[in-house]
Amino acid sequence: MPIDFTLTPEQRELQLSARRFASDMLSQVKAATDHLPTPQARFAATRPIYAELVKAGFLRRMVPMPFGGGGTGMLDMAIVAEEFHSVDVNVSLTMFATLLGLLPVCFGGTAEQQRDLLGPFLEPSGTPLAALCNSEPGGSANFSSPAPGDGVRTTAKLDGGEWVIHGTKQWVSSATGWDGQGADLLTVVCRTDRTAPPERAISVLAVPKPRGIVLERAHESMGHRAHLTPRFRLNGVRTAASNALGPVGGGKGLVDASFTGTAALVGVFGTALMRAAFRFSLRFAQSQRRGGVLPIIEHQAVGYALADAKTALEATRYLNWRACHALDNQLPGATELALQAKIFGSETAVRVITDLMRVVGIDSYDHELPMAGWLQDALVLPIFDGGNMGVRRRQLHDLLKDPDFDPLAAAAAT
Ligand SMILES: Cc1cc2nc3c(=O)[nH]c(=O)nc-3n(C[C@H](O)[C@H](O)[C@H](O)COP(=O)(O)OP(=O)(O)OC[C@H]3O[C@@H](n4cnc5c(N)ncnc54)[C@H](O)[C@@H]3O)c2cc1C
Repeated sequence: MPIDFTLTPEQRELQLSARRFASDMLSQVKAATDHLPTPQARFAATRPIYAELVKAGFLRRMVPMPFGGGGTGMLDMAIVAEEFHSVDVNVSLTMFATLLGLLPVCFGGTAEQQRDLLGPFLEPSGTPLAALCNSEPGGSANFSSPAPGDGVRTTAKLDGGEWVIHGTKQWVSSATGWDGQGADLLTVVCRTDRTAPPERAISVLAVPKPRGIVLERAHESMGHRAHLTPRFRLNGVRTAASNALGPVGGGKGLVDASFTGTAALVGVFGTALMRAAFRFSLRFAQSQRRGGVLPIIEHQAVGYALADAKTALEATRYLNWRACHALDNQLPGATELALQAKIFGSETAVRVITDLMRVVGIDSYDHELPMAGWLQDALVLPIFDGGNMGVRRRQLHDLLKDPDFDPLAAAAAT
């Protein structure tokens, strides 16, 4: 097969429809939310736009086909993520975090669980939310640490045919739902055995329509201002014993598998934000003289900075697509490429947007222009979805330490 990044007609159609939707609907998020005083109010104001996204079929289109959706894999998600995130990160992340919440069901659920739990997310109406609840106060980079590390602190015990969950989670996208009571489906990472080693102690439990969620606070985050990342207690939340996803105690693998897919998507988020910032900076440089004789793009320093930014953004896009292609086809280098896409895409985005702010100059520091907002949104990319310091480089390091690691696998795999 030749090296070729050409999109298929279906992928091109998906790209154009996502671009249209982003331009028509997601472009409204800022005006609808900016003036609102609290994260909950801003998140609630995005609900009609999220409803349009569901109605337009994007959520269903992203759920992989074997589970009843229209998705053919990570490449589809990458195409949509770049179009959505380059216009608005908030509603876009609400959708992708919902997909993350569904992944343990896709990867670990039985056919019956998949039918029952995924059903509401395949409807072309409503505003269904799902959340993968892993992060906890006190840190989750070492959620699968063996003793004496704490690892996951949220616990679940069987009681009369039901799991009863106690614990606190934080930073989990949309987890408390539109009304503060809980998303439509939580997939909760918890400890189901206090004494077993991590490989047998951690489970992922599905909790549809949770009861017993107590919202403690919504984080006032630097970016993603209209996306909800609450801290909340699971206060004796009950779910049927049959709602364990995969083998009880075998949840670590499910969490790892779910976050491997999203790693490549975070790289795409970086490309999208760079794309938005580059486009703005290029137009600025072409049109502004800043009191001088020529448009500032005529100055070599400005032209070179733009050239470097464009080079970096193209490089991240193709690494992301390559990683997604490898994941879709389960190629030997897939995990390595996904981790590299996350680390490289996220850190490149922060650097490039900062560089582009130097091109635009001091006015970029004012929220009247969109540059500062893009930087604020980009700053989370290296530290969320498994921070690059505590999680992602460690995962890459683990691959490199394996005596059987093949340095050519990522390049050679087809
Ligand atoms: C917008 C947004 C959406 C999010 N959505 C979700 C979600 O849907 N679900 C969810 O569960 N979480 C979510 N999070 C949380 C996020 O995914 C974090 O990555 C996660 O909580 C882990 O944080 P951390 O890596 O900083 O870990 P922490 O445990 O807080 O570690 C902090 C720091 O300690 C150091 N460190 C810790 N351990 C090690 C180690 N072993 N080796 C080297 N250094 C180490 C690193 O410097 C690390 O950055 C979201 C966060 C944001 C901002």
